[in-house]
Amino acid sequence: MERLEAALEFVRQLDPEPIARHLQEIGFECTRCGRCCSAADGEPHTATVFPDEVRAIQTETGDEWAEIARPMPFGIEDGTGETFEWALQTAPNGDCTFLTSEDDRTRCSIYGSRPLLCQTYPFSLSLPGTGVSEDAAVESAGRVRASACPGLGAELDAERARSMAERLKTRAVRELEETIALREQYQPVPDPEGVIVHDSEGAKYPDGTAFEGTRR
Ligand code: SF4
Repeated sequence: MERLEAALEFVRQLDPEPIARHLQEIGFECTRCGRCCSAADGEPHTATVFPDEVRAIQTETGDEWAEIARPMPFGIEDGTGETFEWALQTAPNGDCTFLTSEDDRTRCSIYGSRPLLCQTYPFSLSLPGTGVSEDAAVESAGRVRASACPGLGAELDAERARSMAERLKTRAVRELEETIALREQYQPVPDPEGVIVHDSEGAKYPDGTAFEGTRR
């Protein structure tokens, strides 16, 4: 079994209960500060969104694909190149395009269909063989890692911890499934005119339509 398939099998077997306990050890209550949805250090907000998540947001908002997602910027230079996966679209100031404010607090305008990454921030799972960077972790307990967030340390009751643990497991499964499918679909596009995005469904143009040109 290959490394990613082995990691996927491992995650599918994970018991959410210990994950929930470790989440409670760290503690969390979102303060709605909006930091995780904003540009940082002069760089636009970058949060992965999977193709089916883009379509779920389209269903909720009626928006076009490119209003929801942009090509992941890594690997693109001067408006051309191949890249992998999608990021939530950003506003001109670099913040997530769906970040709004209400009564001096931030609000997500697609809260009901926000991607798994947003549902589980600031947490992630450390998994064997996935090469997940732990550089950003400021707290850890068991397999749970937490990125910087003002909400850490607040009381997290058992019910919310269990729900977060289930979503973390779902996200880890989805990320691995997506990566495996992307690896199986990937065929290089030589000297693309403009940007080509490779995801689990194949190669696409930035507007989300399928690439129909020549492959290597
Ligand atoms: S998850 Fe953390 S960083 Fe994001 S809005 Fe809530 S408190 Fe702020």
